[in-house]
Amino acid sequence: MAFIRLDQKAYEHNLALLAKKAGGFHRLICVFKNNAYGHGVKLLAPIAKSLGVNFIALKNQQEALELQGLFPHILILSHRPNGDERTDFIYALNDKEDLHKFKKGTSLHLVIDTGMHRNGISLDELEEVYQNACDLGLKVEGIFTHFAGADEYDSSFFVQKQKFQLAKEKAQKLNPNLLFHSHNSAALLRCKSLDEDELCRVGLAQFGYSEYNANLQKVLSLYAQKLSSRVLQKGQSVGYGGRFSASKDIAISTYDLGYADGLFRFDGTGELKLANGEKLLGRMSMDSFSCKDLGDEVCVFNDARVWASFFHTIEYEILVKLSPLIPRILC
Ligand SMILES: *Cc1c(COP(=O)(O)O)cnc(C)c1O
Repeated sequence: MAFIRLDQKAYEHNLALLAKKAGGFHRLICVFKNNAYGHGVKLLAPIAKSLGVNFIALKNQQEALELQGLFPHILILSHRPNGDERTDFIYALNDKEDLHKFKKGTSLHLVIDTGMHRNGISLDELEEVYQNACDLGLKVEGIFTHFAGADEYDSSFFVQKQKFQLAKEKAQKLNPNLLFHSHNSAALLRCKSLDEDELCRVGLAQFGYSEYNANLQKVLSLYAQKLSSRVLQKGQSVGYGGRFSASKDIAISTYDLGYADGLFRFDGTGELKLANGEKLLGRMSMDSFSCKDLGDEVCVFNDARVWASFFHTIEYEILVKLSPLIPRILC
């Protein structure tokens, strides 16, 4: 059966590196949304906890319930308020119109829109929304923002940083105990050091990917196992549509991983390479692909950037699509 290997040492190494940069494990908010970016949250979250991480961020309440009790602080980023909020989680306020929909007593972090214009409230609305939240019996415990271009070399990152600085000054006057956070992986790794008064939300860098730090180590590798072998004779082709034909007799095998497992479908055009540099041959099927016979087990990728670049996307998308049904093992 196809499987995913998670390298525990690599993950610990990355978290230690990020914690050093952030000023300690206690200043990391590990973003574990979407099954820890496709890696496997059930296996990685306990490692983060054992290293001293006590704050994580997730997509929704369903994800949070799965890790309930493991961390004292769980921030839910994409919750639609419905009165069913729990006191053991913290919810992001994405839209000020939704304030009255939260259950009384709920803990909130206000999203400040400093320029991404995806969600949150503007700087001018901070005092009013804070006051409204208090009046509704909600507990505002922090404010945060998200950068639209932390990984791009233009001025927007600095403009947003400056706006958040102003937001922090305003917020400080409202309540000196509020928590602040703005940096994601790219922002943390490109800055000299994290502001003294901030936590930071690290996602992808935990798993070994960043153009700002070459010392991170990839955590995930994806393996497939052999289903069948044969000699493809000169002139014969393999797979749907016969997209690959042998120019001479070659030993090929079919392995048990396909687009139903969360991979993009390779349509047989171009050169898509496995971890050892061998090419996929012919179109990928729903549950399998073929290539030169490489023995019983083959590493499909240990660096998602190879597939990301082939499919003109980002490594986030390659990783997060990996089916949660593929067995994960820690090693
Ligand atoms: C996903 C996400 C992050 C993590 O971003 P990375 O680039 O993976 O570090 C941080 N903050 C918010 C609001 C997010 O949605």
